[in-house]
Amino acid sequence: MIYDCVIIGGGLAGLTCGISSLRKGMTTLILSNGMNALHFSSGSVDLMGFDSSEKISKSPFNEISNLNETNNNHPYIKAGETKIIQAMDFFTRELEQSGMRLKSKGKENLFHFTNLGVLKPTYLSQESSFDTDSLNSADGESPVALLNFSGFRDYFPQLAAANLKKSRLFRKRDLIMGEICLEQFDEKGRNYNEFRSIDIARIFNTERYLNKIAQKICEISGKAQIITLPSFLGIDNFERVHRKLEELTGKKIYELPTLPPSIPGLRMDSRLKGIFINAGGHLVSSDRVKAGLFRGKRLNAVVTENSGPDGIRGKNFLLATGSFLSGGLVSEYKKITEPVFNTDVFFTPERTSWNSESFFTETGHPFMKFGVETTDDFRAIIENSEMENLYCAGSVLGHYDPVREGSGGGVAVTTGYACAEIMAGRC
Ligand SMILES: Cc1cc2nc3c(=O)[nH]c(=O)nc-3n(C[C@H](O)[C@H](O)[C@H](O)COP(=O)(O)OP(=O)(O)OC[C@H]3O[C@@H](n4cnc5c(N)ncnc54)[C@H](O)[C@@H]3O)c2cc1C
Repeated sequence: MIYDCVIIGGGLAGLTCGISSLRKGMTTLILSNGMNALHFSSGSVDLMGFDSSEKISKSPFNEISNLNETNNNHPYIKAGETKIIQAMDFFTRELEQSGMRLKSKGKENLFHFTNLGVLKPTYLSQESSFDTDSLNSADGESPVALLNFSGFRDYFPQLAAANLKKSRLFRKRDLIMGEICLEQFDEKGRNYNEFRSIDIARIFNTERYLNKIAQKICEISGKAQIITLPSFLGIDNFERVHRKLEELTGKKIYELPTLPPSIPGLRMDSRLKGIFINAGGHLVSSDRVKAGLFRGKRLNAVVTENSGPDGIRGKNFLLATGSFLSGGLVSEYKKITEPVFNTDVFFTPERTSWNSESFFTETGHPFMKFGVETTDDFRAIIENSEMENLYCAGSVLGHYDPVREGSGGGVAVTTGYACAEIMAGRC
């Protein structure tokens, strides 16, 4: 079989491209080597959270249009504003049809609270995430409860409370703290080392203890109408668990992001994979692409650990192997390489210029912008030659800084979507 589109990497960029490519009628295969960055992310899609002087921004599209003057190579400039908007709409619609509603505020950023109780700008977030608008769901004087599950060690409500209290939004609100204790999961009955967010999410997922949990929430939250919990309210049946808990308690329930593994990220990952497979896509989730079989500037097939020497054939290919975390980029002492095709990579030669002196620098670390070079239509470049049918998307791309800009998810969704459009036009 010759696929219309072969995608290397099943993260946010590869999955967005895969779904979009299927919707355009292309036969599509995703080859992926395992977990992706969504398992670490908050499960929200950041578009552009900060301005050029590193200040939090309300208006991501203003910041994006300012890039025209400072960074012509930025993936957003190559995609263009219209494509960014179409990509966000497409992504929201696809997830909504699968049952996952995403909040957005038109052309503005949303501001959600982290588990440290500080504000973070984002563009699309899952409906249960606790953001500044959530405060409107109860009257301005109503206390807010910061609850935890007894034994969960990756969240410190006292620290969150101390930071929230610094914000004027919480000046008039009392914060109530408490722990949900279920005798089935007390210290004697469980392995203390395994009580991470994924273990607690599985407890919610069974739906077995929801009545008990709701009763405990009511007992410890007093008059609070707004309840916050770390993000562990179930995985695949999350929407039902969340709705049931709200019905049983009669209170609004929100989630705060936790340390990895991130349950909202995991939910998004499994939802996107489900959409892709249900739409007829082929997903191989544990095979590594080792090399490509080229004829001149055309890639004809990719060789994987399991494919045999003839490889897997396609008309178009997408490189969406992620950044350093996922092995899409590799750092050697004096150079940065892209290990599958050895495409040209943007980096500065002087090793000492790769990072800033201070870890928590506001100007960012230069190495965050390192990544593959592409043409304006995202085609890969190998030894200065523009490839005909090999495209690149997501965090393998160079010339943007996902951390300093707050743009990681937005670039992955936009470029994955844009590449599917370009490939469909040439198929
Ligand atoms: C800790 C952390 C927190 C983050 N938080 C947020 C957030 O809150 N909001 C936000 O918008 N963004 C966030 N981001 C950024 C965002 O998650 C990423 O930018 C985005 O998910 C990248 O998607 P991707 O598809 O480009 O790459 P990845 O998700 O890294 O996926 C790449 C995939 O390619 C596979 N792969 C690699 N090499 C091969 C090979 N040779 N053959 C086959 N498969 C291969 C990998 O196994 C992986 O599955 C965060 C990132 C991190 C690390």
